Amino acid sequence: MVSGRIFNVQNYSIHDGPGIRTAVFLKGCSLACWWCHNPESIAEEKEYLYHPGRCIECGLCREDPGDCPAGAREMVGTDMTPAEVLAEIEKDRIFYQESAGGVTFSGGEPLLQLEFLKEILRLCQEKDISTAVDTSGSCSWEALAEILELVDLFLYDLKFIDSQKHKKYTGIDNTLLLNNLKKLLEQGARVEVRFPLVPGINDSREDLLLLADRLKELDHSRLTVLPYHRTGIDKYRKLDREYRLAGLNEPDLSYLEEKLEILRGEGITVKIEG
Ligand code: SF4
Repeated sequence: MVSGRIFNVQNYSIHDGPGIRTAVFLKGCSLACWWCHNPESIAEEKEYLYHPGRCIECGLCREDPGDCPAGAREMVGTDMTPAEVLAEIEKDRIFYQESAGGVTFSGGEPLLQLEFLKEILRLCQEKDISTAVDTSGSCSWEALAEILELVDLFLYDLKFIDSQKHKKYTGIDNTLLLNNLKKLLEQGARVEVRFPLVPGINDSREDLLLLADRLKELDHSRLTVLPYHRTGIDKYRKLDREYRLAGLNEPDLSYLEEKLEILRGEGITVKIEG
């Protein structure tokens, strides 16, 4: 049976779609955004986080990191069947009913594990659990089309409209992502477009005007803004990876308001989340 590689199941989440949700994070991503706060999501392979404060320097991990007696090496990535994941999701069912919530599949890029995703979405639909998929759309249109009828809400992340900047800061060109968003909207899918606002990286007046223009072209003048935050930086150290935005501060409210005004001035309805 197909299994999914999961790196986190977060109960009682209020940032991953409407109501109270269970967020299931799938491992593996086709992007590597400079600000990613889940760097352990990027590689498809299982890997270890290293917690230096717990290490007793016994050296056992030189042979096999899984042998650590002190819990200083934490495995990231667990293979779970759709039934196992469903059992986790169902633990929160009472909250979904009370808050109009549900389950969100996030990552990483959940569409990279298409067969697993289809199966778990189908099981949720059978159980009448509302589903959302958090995606960058960096997959074939055919993959999105296969889950269209199984997803109640797409959380669609747009980082840049400028393709060169997109490539620089995420590693890939955005032509496919933008085409897929257009097709999803044309198909009548329920979509929430989300924009991670990263100060000095994708929030210049020019960037925001391009974004507003594209949303209007798509006849979708609504945007959820996710302000940059520094949560997760510690994980770069634990994975022995460089964090390329080390000196960047989180935006304060007045900074954000100034940026949001640019979007509102273009007729975009903006909501801040996170
Ligand atoms: S096995 Fe664990 S405690 Fe021992 S050196 Fe490696 S990380 Fe440190």
